[in-house]
Amino acid sequence: MHQDFAQRTQSQSTESKQSKLAMPGMASFARGTRLKILTWGLPGILMLCLIAVLLFRSESDARTYLSGKPHEEWLSVMPVSAALPPLAPQRTILEQGDNSISALQRLGFDRTQAALIVDASKPVFSLHDVRAGHMFERRDNASSVEIHYTVDGLHRLHLVRNENEAWRAEMLISSVSGRQIIISGSIEDSLFLAAAKAGLDDRTAMNLVDIFSWDVDFSRDLRQGDSFKVVCDEMFDEQGKVVGTTIQAAEFINQGKVFRAIRFMADADHADYFSPDGKSMRKTYLKSPVKYSRISSRFSTARKHPVLGYTRAHRGVDYASPSGTPIRTIGEGRIIFAGWKGGYGRLVEIQHINHAHSTRYGHMRKIAKGITKGARVHQGQTIGYVGMSGVATGPHLHFEFRVRGQAVNPLTVRHTPAEPVPTGKMEAFNSISGQMVRQLDASPMMLAWE
Ligand SMILES: [Zn+2]
Repeated sequence: MHQDFAQRTQSQSTESKQSKLAMPGMASFARGTRLKILTWGLPGILMLCLIAVLLFRSESDARTYLSGKPHEEWLSVMPVSAALPPLAPQRTILEQGDNSISALQRLGFDRTQAALIVDASKPVFSLHDVRAGHMFERRDNASSVEIHYTVDGLHRLHLVRNENEAWRAEMLISSVSGRQIIISGSIEDSLFLAAAKAGLDDRTAMNLVDIFSWDVDFSRDLRQGDSFKVVCDEMFDEQGKVVGTTIQAAEFINQGKVFRAIRFMADADHADYFSPDGKSMRKTYLKSPVKYSRISSRFSTARKHPVLGYTRAHRGVDYASPSGTPIRTIGEGRIIFAGWKGGYGRLVEIQHINHAHSTRYGHMRKIAKGITKGARVHQGQTIGYVGMSGVATGPHLHFEFRVRGQAVNPLTVRHTPAEPVPTGKMEAFNSISGQMVRQLDASPMMLAWE
């Protein structure tokens, strides 16, 4: 099935079964009651007949009962069949511009009921965020009504209303199967092309870039021969379609320098990436002010305009990117300038947490919304878009790192890592890290399967 993917090895398989819907049982109480009447025997029946005579005072009825024969009417006072078989499920698929309320109305709920359903699901999933092509299903059972909404390949919203009760909502997770794979590749002219060739989808390739975005400047520093290796969990739905991947460990070799990252849950609900010795991959500053994307990924030796690095004369680093490419702040801080400044054109300057540090981003085509003097920004936030305002020969970002107002070479600035693995978790981390490092060390570069 994955034979078309070169350099891909399957190392282990895992199966995880999760919550499955339990159908409510059907009530059947009539039979038991009927048997009880039969076991009362003749004296009991006579008693009942006497009561009947007293109640009905009908001569003809009395005669029949006094003859001692059991009467069918008496035996069938209790309903014999209380539960009807459930109706076939009804389904409706959302169309473009459709919404939950109208979809639910198509399934036979009135507007009020539909609104109640939307309300009830709120704590679990917002039915305002439904998408065209996704399906609603209604199932009517003996004493309950159920609704299912397919959120994605893995998640299904389930609502149930029992008799005289309110709607209850829960998220069901489909049974998925997963396996761990190791994918490796080397870069010829674009990371995304290399990733695709190795069988790594765009989203996972982007996650790989994000993991190393504090160490590698993917916009400027990628070179032919750079390589990557990813230990990745792949999840499949019941149809065998890949529904998600999680990078457990990764390696990136940039210009001969090796970077490795291990995924670890440093607290109960949050996973992060650490170097094999437990230091955080996150640092005070991102390596690049331009987010690396599929569009800007291809590097070329023939540039339309000179792209300069830091020199005494230039005092900044230029990023040649298509006009309109988002520019992000490399670190948290506060805007101290946003507007036009001579040769810089549209410029944004940010003062960082370390107040001696500031960064400048020039030649913008447009400054992003909300980026005004005094505004706070978080690391990675988009502050504007690449352009050629001011003195520029082509669209590019002019980026400066300043220490106490003096432009310095960004490469000389120390990037302090975020919190390492907590001491109490170091033993658990070392065990995972050791295992992952062995995987990264051992994984062979496989030849393509025929
Ligand atoms: Zn420049």
